[in-house]
Amino acid sequence: MGQNPCPECRRPYTEKDLQSSRLLRNMTGAVRQHLTKQQAQMDTSPTQAPQALADMLMCTDHEEKLKLFCETDQKLLCVVCRDGEKHKGHQFKPVKEAAQIIKGTLKGVMCFLIKENEQLNGLAQKQAIEVTMTQTKGKNLSAQISAQFEEMHCFLKKKEAEIKKQLEAQEQTVVTAMCKNSSMISERMMNGKELECIFQSALDINQPDLFLQWWNENGFRRIEAMKIKNNENSHIKYETRLEGLNVISNSFFFGPYETHLPFFVCKAMLRAVKPVPELLSIKDPGDSYLKVSPGGSSVRQADRQSNYYKDYNPGVVSEQTFQSGQHYWEIEVGNKLDWSIGIKTDVKISSKKKWKKSDSKDVYLNLIDGQGYTLSSNGKEVSVEVKRKPSKIGLYLDCDRKQVSFYDADIMTLIVVTQYKSTLPCSVALFPGIYLSGKNIDPVTICSYGSDSACSP
Ligand SMILES: [Zn+2]
Ligand SMILES: [Zn+2]
Repeated sequence: MGQNPCPECRRPYTEKDLQSSRLLRNMTGAVRQHLTKQQAQMDTSPTQAPQALADMLMCTDHEEKLKLFCETDQKLLCVVCRDGEKHKGHQFKPVKEAAQIIKGTLKGVMCFLIKENEQLNGLAQKQAIEVTMTQTKGKNLSAQISAQFEEMHCFLKKKEAEIKKQLEAQEQTVVTAMCKNSSMISERMMNGKELECIFQSALDINQPDLFLQWWNENGFRRIEAMKIKNNENSHIKYETRLEGLNVISNSFFFGPYETHLPFFVCKAMLRAVKPVPELLSIKDPGDSYLKVSPGGSSVRQADRQSNYYKDYNPGVVSEQTFQSGQHYWEIEVGNKLDWSIGIKTDVKISSKKKWKKSDSKDVYLNLIDGQGYTLSSNGKEVSVEVKRKPSKIGLYLDCDRKQVSFYDADIMTLIVVTQYKSTLPCSVALFPGIYLSGKNIDPVTICSYGSDSACSP
């Protein structure tokens, strides 16, 4: 084949250019085979183009030259064929003319193919870039995860060392006191043993004069020293050496670090974790049926006397709005019987009466008294299977992917995930639920994980 122009770019290409693509190699292989065959055919003809009449193909049925082309059947014919029954009423063209027309068509197809192949090539390149990007992202993310785990490992190792140091210090204090006591006991015992020996040696003196000499010089003084002074009793008593001595028993106790260590450490680690759930405060809508806590972190239905508006279920939205990035909050629902938590997408509507949970672009996870959990999104409400009753709901808002996920934040498992459509800034919306004759007045509370929630012994 040698130096042939590329059918796409018209530049000459070499074998080397093709080696990169197996698909291309297969294709060029097929084309080469086809062309070789044609070349062989042409080589057997004595003359090449322009094709002389003598070289024209012959009709196998009529031994006539195939001078015509039936457009209806797309087939070569001889003049005898044309008059036959098979081609009655068909359209014919002389071969030269027909070939020109069909070549025109083929060129059109070629144009289409070349253009589309260029587009396909572009797509393939783009896809390859995306593959690389995904792999790079995966690699970076893996590194990030490693770093974050390393941080947690570091924290835990540091905490472990710290706690062990505390333990050592406390142990040391107790053991020091015990050792001091122990040496005091030993000292008194040694003194006693020494006296015991001396007195025994004295008792062993057989000669009365020698014994009494010892008594005069030594024994009397020692025994006198042992006697209790100012003893009015005629009965002689001796000073005890056990006075003030007792055994310090092992009552060493390390408090919560002995009994609740993992919990205390995990809570402490929460302070070191970044990012933590964001701070959020509730906008007080001024609804007399709602009570927003002073700090704006919780809301509940106000106490009421009458049974009017028993199905009235007003809600509140956060002061903060979100339009980009990813955000996570945790909301305490405790043992409440009825509530809704979610994302309100069009926060521009100021009047509380105008917006309802059924607003089509909003997303809510609901607990409906007597019915269970449901998800409202895109104007539909579907029931959601929740395996255990969560007391804390995790809300993950991904503005970039328009996705809202709800978690059981007690055990960090996903409850449900859904998409939303709005591109407007959205806010967190909380509904403390219907009043239920006072059975549902516990608040829904936004959890905070600031440094003040620290818990350390
Ligand atoms: Zn024929
Ligand atoms: Zn025909």
